Amino acid sequence: MLELKNVKKYYTVGETVTKALDDVTIGFRQKEFVAILGTSGSGKTTLLNVIGGLDNYDSGDLVINGQSTKAFKDSEWDAYRNNSIGFVFQSYNLISHLGILDNVKLGMTLSGVSKDEKHQRAVDALERVGLKDHLNKKPNQLSGGQMQRVAIARALANDPDILLCDEPTGALDTETSVQIMDLIKELSEEKLVIMVTHNPELAREYASRIVRLSDGKVITDSKPYEEADKDNRFQLKKTQMSFLTALNLSFNNLRTKKGRTFLTAFASSIGIISIAIVLSLSTGFQHQIDSTQAETVSAFPISMSRVASTQPTNVESPLGTTDGDYPDTQLLIAKEHIQDQVQHINPLDEAYVDYINEIDPNLIQAVGFNRPLKLNLLREVDGEVQSVVFSNAPQTETGLPNAADMTSLLGVSTPVIPTDVEGNSPVLVDNYDLLAGEFPTTAHDVVLVVDSNNQTNYNALRNLGLSIDPEEELDFEELLGTTVTLVNNDDFYTELPTGHFIPNQDLATIYKASDNQELRINGIVRAKADAKMAILAPGIAYSEDLLAEFIDQNRQSAIVVAQEASDVNSLSGETIDGHSREMLLSVLGGNAIPTSVQIYPKNYETKDEIITYLDAYNEGKSTEDRIIYSDLAGTMTELTGGLMDATTYVLVAFAGISLVTSMIMIGIITYTSVLERTKEIGVLKALGARKKDITRVFDAETFILGIASGVLGVSIAYLATIPINMLLENFSGLKDVARLDPVHGLLLIVTSTLLTVLGGHIPARMAAKKDAAIALRAD
Ligand code: ADP
Ligand code: MG
Repeated sequence: MLELKNVKKYYTVGETVTKALDDVTIGFRQKEFVAILGTSGSGKTTLLNVIGGLDNYDSGDLVINGQSTKAFKDSEWDAYRNNSIGFVFQSYNLISHLGILDNVKLGMTLSGVSKDEKHQRAVDALERVGLKDHLNKKPNQLSGGQMQRVAIARALANDPDILLCDEPTGALDTETSVQIMDLIKELSEEKLVIMVTHNPELAREYASRIVRLSDGKVITDSKPYEEADKDNRFQLKKTQMSFLTALNLSFNNLRTKKGRTFLTAFASSIGIISIAIVLSLSTGFQHQIDSTQAETVSAFPISMSRVASTQPTNVESPLGTTDGDYPDTQLLIAKEHIQDQVQHINPLDEAYVDYINEIDPNLIQAVGFNRPLKLNLLREVDGEVQSVVFSNAPQTETGLPNAADMTSLLGVSTPVIPTDVEGNSPVLVDNYDLLAGEFPTTAHDVVLVVDSNNQTNYNALRNLGLSIDPEEELDFEELLGTTVTLVNNDDFYTELPTGHFIPNQDLATIYKASDNQELRINGIVRAKADAKMAILAPGIAYSEDLLAEFIDQNRQSAIVVAQEASDVNSLSGETIDGHSREMLLSVLGGNAIPTSVQIYPKNYETKDEIITYLDAYNEGKSTEDRIIYSDLAGTMTELTGGLMDATTYVLVAFAGISLVTSMIMIGIITYTSVLERTKEIGVLKALGARKKDITRVFDAETFILGIASGVLGVSIAYLATIPINMLLENFSGLKDVARLDPVHGLLLIVTSTLLTVLGGHIPARMAAKKDAAIALRAD
């Protein structure tokens, strides 16, 4: 069942050719104890290696089960070694970083036996060789004889058909040798045992057949094999090692070299550390820039008012313009005002308001409209009904908005809470703390805004009819719940026979009118310390909805209808132009046209999109019909953002170089490890490990190293952000600049692992290609 036919094996070293096996023809029975005798260098080990499939023969044939091995694929050789062959080496070849049990389990690991069965079989095999009491020891805690027993147990554990023993007692004293030989003799009753020895007495005493080798040739054979027994066939199963086993093997190996493993992981983590720090700094700076941008766009919204200037500034330049046409004529022009400011009336109409309202809500924080609308408000003070206003300015007799009120129309501050209050206005809730009461939930809820010193506008309170003195302190409770009555135009104004209108003087009667609405101060709010959009002026603030509702109800009121048809101011009787009439209608609630619009973008990127959107409106329109907006925020921070990006790329590139360096280092370390573990590779091969399995062992090792260095690097970088932030806060006053994004951390660990495995994979491949016979010879 096992025959060598004219097998030749030559070794060529330089010019010298050694005939290790020279035309060997020999057959073996299924169960016998064959001793191979010969002097040193006669080819005994080579013969065993060829039989065991560890070394290729050059010519001739090795026939197994009557099947030639000439066409064997790698996987078939692996299966043969793993399942049919048990090797016992002269120098034991135990893997020193594994325990005895694990050494014995190794071969079974490759044949895919279940965990429990593996353990049981290993224990059985060790009991059989008499090592029951030493199961938990490491190889270096055993004597030579005991180590050889472990090697035999390892060979037995897979229950091979053929046991190949290369000078099993070569390194043992006589007494121990006898014990080992007894053990091998016992095994030869159930297997084919081929034992190499240069001790003729041992051979004669134990073997059932003696073959003498000399210079690679069979000289004598005491019991030559004649006929093949073709009924008995080996079972060749596939072998493979799981990545988990490889991990375990490598983990144990790394554990025996803790110091070196740690240093390696640390050294290769330096690249990760530098990248992580660069990333966390740039993330932090980006964050700072973003919030500065958001603050800037909030402080300087894109705004358009009814009267715009087409010049960037309204200031007359004493130097004249440098932005002219540079005419090529001989004429000069005498001007009264150099660089005349060109006024443009923005045709802000309801169509444009609708256009603005259709801006993608994802681009904006809020849109604010300023309207000249005058609400008809009454309040009963000490039993007497009086006319009141929501205003921060001392009131004039006319009751129309005065100059001071107009400042709020410039858009820097406003009494109107942008966007609706439905579900609580995000602008209000995000930027204001509620000091008392509730945030508005309906259009009829108004809030009192105080500043960071709890100060509010004195006039705002006076204008509500409250009799207070400057500097007077009031309890929140005194103001909460204050109500004001809103009266519709038709109740508020009386038409005179002349066709003019005057406010109804009988306030007590209209105070009771059935259509009146009650507005209530329901909350007191104060801008948060870090508010980005603290745009409400101290005083009374009400929602956009209230104005919309009022306009809705009064659009068809008598005064509005009359004013729409008249060239005369319905209240004062003055003659007015079309523009003034429209303005007056806005005051009376006859239209929803604002005097100015403020758009608060989310950030600079969305601001650009908004501007594109606004420009689209002007497309194809005549100069007169265009809406001119002003964008005061400029592009300053945008530039900073770009610079920041560029700096980050450069820094990441530098940090990347250190990552590559550590990858090369890992490669070198893996290569060293390969050299160190040559013997282990040989043993694994002898046990039937595939090339892939060997590669896996080393891939697993670099995998562990990669993860370790990644985790170490990210952790160190994370810890480093603490002192870095302290330093930066000291220097620049900026808080929490360095922030390690967890996603970046995770990505870096993955990258480190991938790069490390990549760096170690090539040496691992080299290890796998190593010739097992040569690997085992190395010491
Ligand atoms: P033995 O085990 O009988 O001492 P070997 O089978 O190890 O002898 O070696 C047989 C011959 O082949 C020796 O001359 C040895 O030097 C040579 N040889 C064995 N392995 C190699 C090798 N890997 N490279 C070169 N020569 C080798
Ligand atoms: Mg030898």
